[in-house]
Amino acid sequence: MRWLALFLGLAVCLAGGWGLSKSQRVQLFGDLITRIEMSEPRIALTFDDGPSPRFLSGVLDVLDGRDVRATFFLTGQEAEQHPDLVAEIANRGHQLGNHGYSHSRMILRSPAWIEGEIDRTDAALRARGFEGAIPFRPPYGQRLIVLPWLLAREGRPVVLWDVEADDLAEGQTPEAYAQEIIARVEPGSIILMHVMYGSRDTARAALPLIIDGLHARGYSFATLAELEG
Ligand SMILES: [Zn+2]
Repeated sequence: MRWLALFLGLAVCLAGGWGLSKSQRVQLFGDLITRIEMSEPRIALTFDDGPSPRFLSGVLDVLDGRDVRATFFLTGQEAEQHPDLVAEIANRGHQLGNHGYSHSRMILRSPAWIEGEIDRTDAALRARGFEGAIPFRPPYGQRLIVLPWLLAREGRPVVLWDVEADDLAEGQTPEAYAQEIIARVEPGSIILMHVMYGSRDTARAALPLIIDGLHARGYSFATLAELEG
């Protein structure tokens, strides 16, 4: 019986820790941002992962064609592989964000490993002279103890999101995905989208629909820095 109680206790702790690591509301150290409190109809569009040479320019053209500035959370590894793409994102007026170096979960790791993930990615984003603020978003949105503690020491918040929809769901269409996103947006929302890899056709096709739909509802788009401004 005692072993059963111990096992159950451990299972509850693990489940609690996993839940906490993905929480949109609670974090043990530092600031957590999922939305900016405001009444003006302004929002931030954020893209995770990449940059990928195959899909970036199409995404940038959609944004440019609609005069939208967004925020790109890039992995350090891909940023190192494609410095020209990083520079292009920044030169076209978008904000760069740090999404970890290797896109590994940043929980249950040593402080040195986590610090390396953060610092190598910052360096890859700064390599071509990008000087703006670099917000941080952990892979899978997960953080537990060491990561928030390290970021809090630098006065750097964790930036998550308040709006997303599942573009990979079975039978998902660009129209339905766009409608879900549009319906969830409110002033100050931070939208998360994935548009960098081959599996993300639905999200890429939905991008112009989302922007046009939100423009039609009176929303304007800002980078995270502008939204926080
Ligand atoms: Zn990611």
